[in-house]
Amino acid sequence: MENQINTQMEQRKGRRLVLFPLPLQGHINPMLLLATILHSKGFSITIIHTNFNSLNPSHYPNFTFHSIPDGLLESEASSSDLVALVKLLNIKCTDPFRACMDKLLSDASQEPISCIISDPLFYFTQAVADSLKLPRVVLRTGGLSSFVVFAAFTLLRERGYFPIQDSQLEEPVVEFPPLKVKDLPMINTVDPNLYYEIIASVVNGSKASSGIILNSFEELEQSALDTLRQEFPNPIFPIGPFHKYNLTSSSSSLLAQDQSSISWLDKQAPKSVIYASFGSLAALSESQFLEIAWGLANSNQPFLWVVRPGLVRGSEWLEPLPTGFLQTLNGRAHIVKWAPQLEVLAHPAVGAFWTHNGWNSTLESICEGVPMICMPFFTDQKVNAKYVSQIWKVGLQLENGLDRLEIERYIKRLMVEKEGEELRDRISKLKEKAKFCLQQGGSSLQNLDSLVSHISKLES
Ligand code: UDP
Repeated sequence: MENQINTQMEQRKGRRLVLFPLPLQGHINPMLLLATILHSKGFSITIIHTNFNSLNPSHYPNFTFHSIPDGLLESEASSSDLVALVKLLNIKCTDPFRACMDKLLSDASQEPISCIISDPLFYFTQAVADSLKLPRVVLRTGGLSSFVVFAAFTLLRERGYFPIQDSQLEEPVVEFPPLKVKDLPMINTVDPNLYYEIIASVVNGSKASSGIILNSFEELEQSALDTLRQEFPNPIFPIGPFHKYNLTSSSSSLLAQDQSSISWLDKQAPKSVIYASFGSLAALSESQFLEIAWGLANSNQPFLWVVRPGLVRGSEWLEPLPTGFLQTLNGRAHIVKWAPQLEVLAHPAVGAFWTHNGWNSTLESICEGVPMICMPFFTDQKVNAKYVSQIWKVGLQLENGLDRLEIERYIKRLMVEKEGEELRDRISKLKEKAKFCLQQGGSSLQNLDSLVSHISKLES
């Protein structure tokens, strides 16, 4: 058996995979973890990345890196309009990506390329792959349940859900219970039509690909997986949670992770701390920020809060906080610019995660059995939050805007009351399922084997 595995690994050593992550934190992390997983299966790994949010090759000595000029102007790279950013990246990266691929393909000293693995938001890569006669597999870095909603966007538009009317926000989306219109994965953008166009390109590009890899696991999103398998012609491989594979992988964090988070947590009582972090992209107004600050302070629980520079619109960092805010809390609060989130969630002192429900954060919380307070901002976060609060029932969603009294009340429900214990019990069970799918015979490991054999058979 071991000999057979070694021979298969040897055969794959002659095959190279080219991975192309979207240059945003929540997309980079899973793509680099996937690279580590596939490298452990014997593939050689080449990463193509943009200058924007460039990666550090020295963290990954086993991979080959190629940087391409994305041509983004400074104002474009720092724009808060993510829809416009994605569109620009797709336009501006096309020629440099193709040139980089041409160079890789003509380099006789390199192993042959089995396929390109790209983020589906880089939808232009399907046409490039086709023209180079290379197969393309996509890594969807978000959840399956939200992907199914994106896949139905055209239908939902035909049925009149878009553009969303304020008067309809509380109405049910009958095609996707328990979602309401306000939970549909929308985002503020100057050009909603561009958003629909991008979603259509992502969905069609994913359908046209040679396979879809997901950082999720069957037991978590079985019904969405069934739907997707019916609607999509290509094979689908949920092989997550990626960060729980027993492999050493370097951090792909774009910001330095403040390790004082851990030494501060070491001094706190078990399950007493609320960890609050809203990911790499979300932004708040000053008044929302202050409601959060006072809600946390008035809860009387210790809290670790990630305030990313840029989180508060128009502020550098903590300036909106009243003078002496932290001092009056007598060590009960610790604020950092960026935390080692995986270590934080795994720390015994952490009792709850107040999150924006980005998919990575949601999955990371599930894997550590930490119940959530959900505060989604945009796109798939809204669907994830509904799943957390109403399908898996492992969190509470703040529904009525940001108000310090309401926040205090939610924290008490989760940290002090019986309701919190029930959520904790349920998420512990999900945590066990997440663990099980990566044990021998578990669904994700089986799907990984299928993926590896699928990629090995792809003909360029
Ligand atoms: N993260 C981190 N430190 C922080 C906050 C977040 O390392 O202080 C990581 C987190 O573990 C996750 C990623 O950044 O892997 C954020 O991805 P997610 O999908 O949750 O949200 P996004 O940033 O895409 O909105």
